[in-house]
Amino acid sequence: MTEKPPVPAASSRARAAAASVVVACATAAAASSSSSASASSSPSPSPPATAIVAVGAPVLRQRAVEVDVAEIATPGFQALVARMVEVMRAAPGVGLAAPQLGVGKRVFVVEDTEERMAKLTAAERAERGRVPVPLRVLVNPVVTPLGEPRAVFFEGCLSVAGFSALVPRHDEVEVRGLDERGQPVAWRVRGWPARIVQHELDHLDGTLYVDRMLTRSFGTTAHNAERFGGQPIAAVRAALGL
Ligand code: ZN
Repeated sequence: MTEKPPVPAASSRARAAAASVVVACATAAAASSSSSASASSSPSPSPPATAIVAVGAPVLRQRAVEVDVAEIATPGFQALVARMVEVMRAAPGVGLAAPQLGVGKRVFVVEDTEERMAKLTAAERAERGRVPVPLRVLVNPVVTPLGEPRAVFFEGCLSVAGFSALVPRHDEVEVRGLDERGQPVAWRVRGWPARIVQHELDHLDGTLYVDRMLTRSFGTTAHNAERFGGQPIAAVRAALGL
């Protein structure tokens, strides 16, 4: 999932909207959409950003394969994880799955920080359940939804750069899998981190947020930010007839 970059700065409202639009995986901001969109075709001096595979690539639509536990400790796999973390932070994003680097393996990374949510008000953080999440590496993750409540917020993806939409997600999930050392992990999360986890897990199954979005809310990050920035999601849904 992605984080928003500097919106052209029409207003603080627009900036707030951009922030809210960022979700799980690498969502690029409107301002950076052009660079990420052309990443695969045009060489750039910034390797991390150009490493992200854009929608349309078959690897984003295939089920990623399980990682052999014996492979986790290998230099090659450790280098993959390090690269994923590097690219996620450079994007910036709050999550990244291996297929987004063109690698069809079941592993994703998640990280959210105070800095990345600095432009959100206290009310916006509370509405989203957004809290800092230390770096997590999940190998062969299995996600189990807990409870019925669903949360709806704007989401974006670095592999679908420049766009965002409202996406319903389970409010709380449990993730089980292995960490970067091959040790078992059981992680129960809710709110924004749970959204990130579901977004990234979808990548491992060849699913993108556009498959789950409320289609009438789909728009460019810039337009959604300009129109809905700073508004409660209930107001956004009402405005869109959702
Ligand atoms: Zn994504």
